[in-house]
Amino acid sequence: MAETFFYMPGRVICGPDALAELSRAAHLGKRPLLVTGQNFARRTGLLAKAQKILTAAGTEPVVFDRVEPEPAVQTAEAAAEYARTHNCDFVVAIGGGSPMDVAKAVAVLLTNPPGLDRYFGSEKLERPAAPVVCIPTTAGTGSEVTKYAVLVDHQAGLKKTLVAESTIPRLALLDPSLTVSLPACLTAETGMDAFSHAVESYLAIAANPLSDAFNLQALEIIVRALPAVLAEPMNLALRQQMLLASSLAGLALNSTGTIINHGMTYALTVRYGMGHGRANALLLPYTIAYIAEDYPQKISRLCDILGCEDIEVGLLDLNRRLSIPTSLSEAGVAEDDLPALAESCRLNCVRAVSHMKRRIDSQDYTDILRRAF
Ligand code: FE
Repeated sequence: MAETFFYMPGRVICGPDALAELSRAAHLGKRPLLVTGQNFARRTGLLAKAQKILTAAGTEPVVFDRVEPEPAVQTAEAAAEYARTHNCDFVVAIGGGSPMDVAKAVAVLLTNPPGLDRYFGSEKLERPAAPVVCIPTTAGTGSEVTKYAVLVDHQAGLKKTLVAESTIPRLALLDPSLTVSLPACLTAETGMDAFSHAVESYLAIAANPLSDAFNLQALEIIVRALPAVLAEPMNLALRQQMLLASSLAGLALNSTGTIINHGMTYALTVRYGMGHGRANALLLPYTIAYIAEDYPQKISRLCDILGCEDIEVGLLDLNRRLSIPTSLSEAGVAEDDLPALAESCRLNCVRAVSHMKRRIDSQDYTDILRRAF
């Protein structure tokens, strides 16, 4: 079957002072909704700077700053309601994956009938979403270039994914000066989110020569730059490389999606509130080792990049260098919760398994979690 090889309708601008290029967003509409978290962008003056640039460019920005980490469906709907009452016509996200994903959901609801639930899944919009602009302040999610928005449905105990090409940001500004103040643990964890995207996308069924090239490049950058940036947090060149690697992996994701590592971490986030990057880093050695025999050549390439003989050992070693926990018990998961966690993994992995060669059943999740415990 013929499939889309690559699609990228947006502009990515990378470099020191990329933020100044936000004025280019002015042609997208008159009233942008600025979507951000509860703290960082305001405290650092970034929000005020963005407002100033947008105002000087002739728009009238409105701010929604109530996005929590691992945002809920209700947060996105509240933001959309706020945007509608203020007659917003495009959306600008400032922050990590959480505001960026909420911004995409708002963009969907600005042009489509209310009720976000009907748009989860692949390409279910009635009309194209309103334009989105992203300014990432972490280097990890790649959301600034993807068609994905992931939100938590607390009632169902699920992370739900909205997939719509019209939500791919029209403009992404990768400005390393915005990530220099990120604390070490968040730098490591979000960096490992990007690393997981690249590994999972590389092993997904729909991987193609272009996604492979992007993913391998992202992995080579991260293995070198992530430990280095922890030692030198103010180094703008390293911060810029991490932003670039995160976007490279994100661009590849649009063609491939992720596999069970991401799906299984959704269960950890929903049940334990564990951060997305941390959960991905923690599980990755075990999920990839479990399926490694399906991909002998690609796993050997990953080992070359990591400088290891055994993929599980190499990935565990990387986590140790980044001070990330290497077992579920170390991360506070109780052993008697593993059966319920395995069931939650099964429910959260429906999309992920469709991106894999091998069929995965309940026993597989249990085996992986036992090994990770
Ligand atoms: Fe992720």
